[in-house]
Amino acid sequence: MTETIGKHVTHWINGKPSPSGEAQGDIHEPSTGRLAGKVDFAGRAEVDAAVAAAKAAFPAWRDASLAARAKVLFRFRELVNGHRDELARLISSEHGKVVSDAAGEVARGLDVVDFACGIPHLLKGGFSENVSTRVDAYSILQPLGVAAGITPFNFPAMVPMWMFPVAIACGNTFVLKPSEKDPSASVRLAELWAEAGLPDGVFNVVHGDKTAVDGLLHHPDVKAVSFVGSTPIARYIYETAARNGKRVQALGGAKNHMVVLPDADLDLAADAAVSAGFGSAGERCMAISVVVAVGPVGDALLDKIKERVARLRVGPGDHPDSDMGPLVTREHRDRVASYLDGGVAQGATLAVDGRLTPVLGDPAGGFWLGPTVLDHVTPEMDAYKDEIFGPVLSIVRTGSYEEAMELIGANPYGNGTAIFTNDGGAARRFQNEVEVGMVGINVPIPVPMAYYSFGGWKDSLFGDSHAHGMEGVHFYTRTKAVTARWLDPSHGGVNLGFPTGG
Ligand code: NAD
Repeated sequence: MTETIGKHVTHWINGKPSPSGEAQGDIHEPSTGRLAGKVDFAGRAEVDAAVAAAKAAFPAWRDASLAARAKVLFRFRELVNGHRDELARLISSEHGKVVSDAAGEVARGLDVVDFACGIPHLLKGGFSENVSTRVDAYSILQPLGVAAGITPFNFPAMVPMWMFPVAIACGNTFVLKPSEKDPSASVRLAELWAEAGLPDGVFNVVHGDKTAVDGLLHHPDVKAVSFVGSTPIARYIYETAARNGKRVQALGGAKNHMVVLPDADLDLAADAAVSAGFGSAGERCMAISVVVAVGPVGDALLDKIKERVARLRVGPGDHPDSDMGPLVTREHRDRVASYLDGGVAQGATLAVDGRLTPVLGDPAGGFWLGPTVLDHVTPEMDAYKDEIFGPVLSIVRTGSYEEAMELIGANPYGNGTAIFTNDGGAARRFQNEVEVGMVGINVPIPVPMAYYSFGGWKDSLFGDSHAHGMEGVHFYTRTKAVTARWLDPSHGGVNLGFPTGG
């Protein structure tokens, strides 16, 4: 039996809530399994209304001075900062992650707002005097128009904040389609934008599923699409949006390997593997899901990992003693749990069985699975090949550094990776050779700061722009190159030759 708590989450269009109500989705509370409420799903009419509002708001926002835009961003920054706890609790209640972790994602999202507050500096073009006699050339960066963002469940605040602060700072208007599983944070952020003085229509939110997404991908007034989610959907978004003439960046799934060399500090490596494997119940695109133990370190490393896992406390996200919360939905928990028996059937060893982990509080009905360690995993097994996206850490043993590199090189994903070693030469060689977009050296989750850009390689990213940082500014602007000559009596008259400097 499910009990409805009764929240109703709806779209945010043109500066106000905009209920639709025809189609709706369920919002669950992962720690109890209860139905927490309903979220309206957008159809064609709601998508059209949001894009129309964004299109109408564009000319004035594009023409707002850089100082005026930066002032709104600074106010938004203060408001989000002031509501950090409230946002974290909201995220935790719908996603399941512990409140401190949710506060961390708000903080990392705020880093991007900080970056975007510097927009007057970031939008400076170039200027060259006298490219020809008394002719100057310069470049200007202009916004695109309406940009859309489509985001995953696992970071309901941070991932949208990789996108919209930069897009809006650059002078675009924005339509966000957040995950339908935890939609409330995006609406709260929209309210804070309004309180910060952002003009109506500059930031809009439509909720929903494939129907809403397809509406955005096919809408002629959407000029750019930023996506973050799983690889099959990222590929679909990239192909569909590009076919419709849009600029697109689509960040996909991951399988992040952490290589531990024989000379590594094994306590540091075990701390890192457990933190990066089980933080947010492994539902992070930068989670470590494969530990690659090189040479003789496997057994000692496994013992240290097991000691640490035994101390982790699993419970509701708002329980003060919880280190790790539940998974996001029952279906996802069941899918993740299927890799335990599946892994053993294919020859892995279940070194820690998360189904046996005690749960704090009243666990009945929640979507629980404790931290799990599968040892002796090999590349043919499904537990290795698939992105599990849950608290299952696989250990693969290799005989050499070269074998570890072959493993990573053959993997279709290339989001994040890490090496643990005390050998600077080995670390340098790794950073140079590895075919992965984000690399950690004795750092397990190498998420770039906001002023660098976030993105993987291979099947972890479709498109050529990574998120935020200067690549974000590049993605949300078009460059115009101007060549100017002011009237001068000494011009050379008619000349049919190709213009060159001189
Ligand atoms: P998902 O791909 O199922 O959903 C992402 C978004 O796409 C959601 O808004 C969803 O409503 C929409 N969507 C789902 N199915 C669709 C379809 N058939 N057509 C059109 N739109 C559709 O991903 P998720 O389960 O919400 O998030 C987890 C995934 O996101 C993992 O694979 C994880 O690795 C990935 N992720 C990647 C990064 C990164 O930076 N590379 C960051 C966070 C999460």
